[in-house]
Amino acid sequence: MFDVQTVRKDFPILEKKIYNKPLIYLDNGATTQKPRCVVEKIEQGYYNVNANIHRGVHHLSQVATEAHEDARRTVQEFLNAEKPHEIIFTRGTTEAINLVASSFGDAFLETGDEVIVSVMEHHSNIVPWQLLAARGKSITLKVIPMNERGELDIEAYKQLFSERTKLVSVMHVSNVLGTINPVKEMIEIAHSYNVPFLVDGAQAVPHMQVDVQDLDADFYVFSGHKIYGPTGMGVLYGKESWLEKIPPYQGGGEMIASVSFEKTVFNDLPFKFEAGTPDYIGSTALAEALRYVNKLGIQTIAAYEDELLKYATERLKTIEGMRIFGEAAHKGAVISFLVGNIHHYDMGMLLDRLGIAVRTGHHCAQPLMHDLGIEGTVRASFSLYNTKDEIDLFIDGVNRVKQMF
Ligand SMILES: *Cc1c(COP(=O)(O)O)cnc(C)c1O
Repeated sequence: MFDVQTVRKDFPILEKKIYNKPLIYLDNGATTQKPRCVVEKIEQGYYNVNANIHRGVHHLSQVATEAHEDARRTVQEFLNAEKPHEIIFTRGTTEAINLVASSFGDAFLETGDEVIVSVMEHHSNIVPWQLLAARGKSITLKVIPMNERGELDIEAYKQLFSERTKLVSVMHVSNVLGTINPVKEMIEIAHSYNVPFLVDGAQAVPHMQVDVQDLDADFYVFSGHKIYGPTGMGVLYGKESWLEKIPPYQGGGEMIASVSFEKTVFNDLPFKFEAGTPDYIGSTALAEALRYVNKLGIQTIAAYEDELLKYATERLKTIEGMRIFGEAAHKGAVISFLVGNIHHYDMGMLLDRLGIAVRTGHHCAQPLMHDLGIEGTVRASFSLYNTKDEIDLFIDGVNRVKQMF
C-alpha cells in the first residue's frame, strides 16, 4: 500500500516553511526533492569510499570503482538495457543529447541532412542540432505538429521522412503539456525507414515504467535530479551497435586505451564516452534514488500521480477563465495553465507568497509557446510526495490570486 504521509517523512525539505507557510512544492518537472537515503549516500560516499576510480591499485579505489560500476548495473536494470556498457554517465539530459548530436553528427550527419523533432521539444533537443552548423554541418529540423489537445500528429510524422532523414529525436513526455508521446509506435515507424531514434526521457523515467528494449530505442536519455537523485548526474543509454559506431565526445583520461603523440587508441565502451574523472559519488547516489523508486514501485507511483493529476485538473477546471494547455488522452502529472488575463509571472509570484512553488514562463520550449500563441504558462507538476490537501491549498491560492485582479 502506498502511504503518502510515510513517503513524505523521507523528504526532510518538505517540512520547511516558506514565508511562514508550509512549503507546497509543485515544481517537480524542474527538479525533484531528495529522500534522506540519497543525501546520506552522498555523505557516506565522501566519508567512507572517496578515491579516484579505475586507476588505483589501492583498496579504496577498488571499492569506489566497484560502487560506480554497480551503479551502472542498477541503471541498466532500471531501464532494462541489455548490457551495462550501454549505460553512459553524463551530467544530465542536456549533456547526453549534446553527446549524441556531436558524436552521431560527426559520424553520420552532413549539411542538408534532416533530423525529425516535435513541436513540443525542450530547447535541449533543438539547440544541439543547430550547433552542428558551426561545425560546417547545417542540419534541417523537420517538425512534427500536434493537435489542439497537444497530441502529436502521427500521420504528419510519417510524411516527414525523406532520403535525407538521419535521426528522429523526440521527447517521451512533454514537460509543458504532460503529453505522453507514443514513442514505441513512433520508433517502429522510424525503423521502417531505417532511421534511428533518440528519446528524451527526462519527464518519463521518474513517472512511468521505461523499458528501452521493449521500446527498441536507439538512444534514451534522462536526468538524475528529476528522479530524486543528485544534480549533475544523467544517463545516456545507447544500443551497443550505435555506441560502437560513433566517435568519442570528449578526449582525456579514462577514455583511452593508449596514447602517444602520434596516435590515440580509444578505450572500450562505456569508458570511450566518459573522459576524465566521473562523478563516482553522484552515480552511486543516483543508483540509491532508483532503488528508492523500485522499493515504492514505479507503477504504484504512476497510479498515485495520475490520481493527483485527475483531481487537480477537475478542480482547476471549476475556476472561471481557466485555460489548460495540454489535454492529451495519455498524460503525465503536469498541468500548464493561464487564468483570464493574469500574467503567468504574476500568478507564480503571488502563489510563491503563499508558500506554493510553481514554475512560470516558457519552460525551455519557446517554439511550443509560439505554436500555442502564448508567451508562457503557469505550470504545476506533481510528484509522489504531493497530496490532495496540497492541491486544495493550491486551488485556493489560484482563486485568491484571481480575486486580486
Ligand atoms: C529538464 C528537461 C531537460 C533538460 O534536463 P537537464 O537536467 O537540465 O539537462 C530536457 N528535456 C526535458 C523534457 C526536460 O524536462
